[in-house]
Amino acid sequence: MCGIIAYIGNKEAYPILIKGLQRLEYRGYDSAGIALMNGSLNIYKKRGKVQELVDFAKHQNISGSSGIGHTRWATHGKPDDINAHPHCSSDGRLTLVHNGIIENYSPIKHALEKKGHTFKSQTDTEVLVHLIEEVQKQDNLPIEEAVRVALSKVVGAYAIVVIDKNDPDKLVAARKGSPLVVGIGDDEFFLASDGTPIVEYTKKVVYLEDEHIATMHRNGKYEIRTIDNEVHTPFVDELNMEIERMEKGGYDYFMLKEIYEQPTTIQDAMRGRINAEEGWVRLGGMDDHVDIVKDAQRFIILGCGTSWHAGLIAEYLFEDLARIPVEVEYASEFRYRNPVITDKDVVIAISQSGETADTYAALELAKKNGALLYGIVNVVGSSIARLTDAGSYIHCGPEIGVASTKAFTAQVTLLTLMALQIGHERGTISDEYFKKLLIELENIPEKVKKVLDSNDKIKYIAAEIKDSPNAMYLGRGYNFPIALEGALKLKEISYIHAEGYPAAEMKHGPIALIDENMPVIVIATNKSLNDKIVSNIQEVKARKGVVLAIVTEGDNEISRIADYTIEIPDTEEPFTPLLSVIPLQLLSYYIAVMRGCNVDQPRNLAKSVTVE
Ligand code: GLU
Repeated sequence: MCGIIAYIGNKEAYPILIKGLQRLEYRGYDSAGIALMNGSLNIYKKRGKVQELVDFAKHQNISGSSGIGHTRWATHGKPDDINAHPHCSSDGRLTLVHNGIIENYSPIKHALEKKGHTFKSQTDTEVLVHLIEEVQKQDNLPIEEAVRVALSKVVGAYAIVVIDKNDPDKLVAARKGSPLVVGIGDDEFFLASDGTPIVEYTKKVVYLEDEHIATMHRNGKYEIRTIDNEVHTPFVDELNMEIERMEKGGYDYFMLKEIYEQPTTIQDAMRGRINAEEGWVRLGGMDDHVDIVKDAQRFIILGCGTSWHAGLIAEYLFEDLARIPVEVEYASEFRYRNPVITDKDVVIAISQSGETADTYAALELAKKNGALLYGIVNVVGSSIARLTDAGSYIHCGPEIGVASTKAFTAQVTLLTLMALQIGHERGTISDEYFKKLLIELENIPEKVKKVLDSNDKIKYIAAEIKDSPNAMYLGRGYNFPIALEGALKLKEISYIHAEGYPAAEMKHGPIALIDENMPVIVIATNKSLNDKIVSNIQEVKARKGVVLAIVTEGDNEISRIADYTIEIPDTEEPFTPLLSVIPLQLLSYYIAVMRGCNVDQPRNLAKSVTVE
């Protein structure tokens, strides 16, 4: 959360910073601010979206060839102009932007107050810049040294960039926990929370490591030191991103574009990893670890939000196809409950951004206990990708809509491939069934296209139910996690209260909520449990609930009893989630648009949750 951008070189910094903030806005939009160095230092910050800042800055001096910018997702202090970043030292010499949380800010703040510091904001960030100021003054240190010493006193997570007015040809950056990428141009540097603001200027990047401090000079030189003051030789990576994938391309919202990209992104997740004709599935990431993975005594799957739902589907896939016991855990709960982990466990972490703080911390714990760590991540070079022993990228391109859609289906595709490969290696699925599944999996992108053809019908149903204050989602087996995911999508972008339940659980409590005002969305595509689902729908109808059923093409029985139906093509049961989730994504999207919500930037949320 929070997006950081910085520039030093010979170009005008303002357009680079603003465009960068717009690219990073998915990470937070409580406020935006910039500091521009041009002999003097000009700081502009505004509550709200980047556009508010742009409107304000129109009438200001925006020249300067270095600067820092920030788009905030507030953790400490309400979203307003004062708490917006950048924050300054008491004498105004230092200016800083920060992503993360300084956990011990309170004792540091009290100690600084005793020394005469006063604070304008309620943020932990302002405490950090005052601490650096104090350290710098005490020993008259150069800024990079003051940053290093100050950070050694700090507990928590940070990505920071600092400007020292007295040393204007330098930017100093550091990170621990929160991401930061350094883009290396010709005698110029770009810094950002991810590669999206950098890619149009340079493809040469260094992913800053934890507790490393980078100093960038205007003359094109840079140096990286560890927090223990050792010089570190950086590895220069190549940024692999396409600019078009970061634009809306004619769609009203990124979310809709990303929903429609799914036939391609599911295909991309499979590319080079499956060949039905030759009868193989192979994830390159498993190559060196196949024996450990296939002989694991247990898989522990970690995720948060939508990634956790992908993990729940994987539980069905791995147990069903590979007969390996699986535990799916909220990363945030797992790490704090003294879990039992051994070196016979394989821990699979699912994170779109690869930066999810809770998942990262849970992985560190699993690593200490000797488990093999496997990452399923979208962002190349991200922290989780680097921490894990092995892994597979889902390759779905930048996901900018805050509500995850294409990353979810790409994660599920990847986990499906993994289950198929392990099941085949372990001999827990017959050759014949394996082959049949491979052929069908290759058909899924085409079938997703077909589901997307129901767009108009889904829009019509959205209009019918958009004013309900509540909604319930029911599913069984492979589609139970889809019920949870459908409910989450609706909650996060339309602010309608929604619950997802295993269909059979309804009678143990939630059925009390059902009346003629309660839309109940039933995912009823499981052949193996069809009769049971029909009974569940009857139970809802008997209580006057309004039923929208997602059914398999040609299922006339359910169509007769449900108020609305949306058909998905027939497929093998383990693959139904890849199809049944699509109408639920579109339903949430249209309901949210009809309710006037900002679909890409829902209130209170941000993508890439880099704080605990
Ligand atoms: N803790 C800082 C603030 O509240 C930064 C927040 C973040 O990175 O999410 O301003």
